[in-house]
Amino acid sequence: MKINSNFLNLKDSYLFATVGRKTTEFKKAHPDKKVIRLSIGDVTRPLAPVVIGAMHRAVDDMSRKETFKGYGPDQYCYGYEALIDSIKGSYARKGIALESAEVFVSDGAKSDLGNILDLFAPENTVLVPDPVYPVYVDTNIMAGRKILYADANLANGFLPMPDFSVDADIIYLCSPNNPTGAAYTKEQLKEWVRYATEKNAVLLYDAAYEYFITDPALARSIYQIEGAKKCAIEFCSYSKTAGFTGVRCGYTVVPQELVREGVSLNKLWARRQSTKFNGVSYITQMGAAAVFTEEGEKEISENLDYYRENAKIIANCLDGLGIFYTGGKNSPYIWMKCPLGMDSWEFFDYLLENANVVGTPGSGFGKNGEGFFRLTAFGTKEDTQEACSRIELLLRK
Ligand code: PLP
Repeated sequence: MKINSNFLNLKDSYLFATVGRKTTEFKKAHPDKKVIRLSIGDVTRPLAPVVIGAMHRAVDDMSRKETFKGYGPDQYCYGYEALIDSIKGSYARKGIALESAEVFVSDGAKSDLGNILDLFAPENTVLVPDPVYPVYVDTNIMAGRKILYADANLANGFLPMPDFSVDADIIYLCSPNNPTGAAYTKEQLKEWVRYATEKNAVLLYDAAYEYFITDPALARSIYQIEGAKKCAIEFCSYSKTAGFTGVRCGYTVVPQELVREGVSLNKLWARRQSTKFNGVSYITQMGAAAVFTEEGEKEISENLDYYRENAKIIANCLDGLGIFYTGGKNSPYIWMKCPLGMDSWEFFDYLLENANVVGTPGSGFGKNGEGFFRLTAFGTKEDTQEACSRIELLLRK
């Protein structure tokens, strides 16, 4: 028996463990100090009432013989039609027509971002932006694929554009980006679609944060770009959109038009899902189906506005200090340049010790993250305001 030795090539993930350990140690040494965490990557607002109502009704359905549900319908890989229709409705409002068979309900974007790699041969070359959400890199290391990096940096505003002299088969894009908060315009994404089309490559487009976008020049979906249905798969999630990080639901769009080597990737994915996946719970799906209703959208936008307001408080603070950052608008993340020439961990320690504020060192997201720092808008408004007052006081000196 041989193990998959590619796993031995993974780097240990010290980032959040070290952030947690340093924070705990500081708290222990200074029990009188209130430490504020602007490092939270998880939502904190409760689920919308309309979602809770739908889930309660679904629980009641499970209690009666007449309405009880077992496995989900296999027609659409266990996605209930009510949910698929509501997802299609959300796309239609962005000007995108989808067929039901193109929408796959999942237990979140992370699983599908990893699982989609079953469809691609190990010899494909992968292009990943740096810095980025670490899942894209680690899942490809596990599969032994060659990884190239597209540098995201100050020069390109953390939005790398395609280099046509580089040949890649699988390209990851994340917009609005975690960790940089930067988001592509429709014009910029046209270039990526042109690149993928020319290289006969596939774009894996992570739109987990698309509901934070308010600027109409920015793309809400890759399918707003002409030709994208022939070259892109899109991953979406209810996690940040509707507070589902603990409930678990997402959806992946694999267009019928996406064909490589004469094979439909939609058919391959349907085959993969029906073999290795048994669907998302009925109760969860009914809750998710309430999100993109008129009432649901109104209620989730109250929570999204709450986080947007926090992002604005942080952005205003950095504006006042004249510190460069990306994100803050159209994103819950703020990616700031570390002041006073500090590196990411130096600034982490400096901020924790002198302002008792915790953020995430950018170097943990890739080599281009060194010298940068991620703050998030997922805390409470009071904590965000208090943290920003402290940061301002400290860095004004
Ligand atoms: N994609 C990005 C860029 C994320 O930051 C996250 C979660 O933080 C995910 C996907 C995973 O989302 P889910 O909770 O749907 O698995």
